[in-house]
Amino acid sequence: MSDLRDLYQEVIIDHGRRPRNFGELKPADREADGFNPLCGDKLHLALTLDRDIVTDVKFTGSGCAISMASASLMTETLKGKPVSEAERLFDEFTAMVTVEEGARERAAELGKLGVLAGVREYPARVKCATLAWHTLDAALKDVGEASTE
Ligand code: ZN
Repeated sequence: MSDLRDLYQEVIIDHGRRPRNFGELKPADREADGFNPLCGDKLHLALTLDRDIVTDVKFTGSGCAISMASASLMTETLKGKPVSEAERLFDEFTAMVTVEEGARERAAELGKLGVLAGVREYPARVKCATLAWHTLDAALKDVGEASTE
């Protein structure tokens, strides 16, 4: 288990340091800003859609390693997925980091996103991990802004 933990840690540090899909996306079909006042994490998320498929997604911003890694892993996961699947992943991811019951199964089902399951044990970091997803939700619903508060 500790080896697995180290591996998860490595993935998070790697994505935190070298976030994938970091940059501007213009023109975008949907955009939103997200802010986690608890930690100071800030994100701007932009995506393009072809009918209901997410064709591209990028983000800019600054924050702790967990918020950056979560946004990086999320953007990697979303490309090519339908909006309905993105919304389902938002629910599953949020449940994985907040609900004890069934967390292991959820982490396994979520694949790469599962590396963030460990934040459930650190309540202060949960909002860092979910910020990207709340921002995505705001972008998909076209409300422009998301706050974890
Ligand atoms: Zn944070």
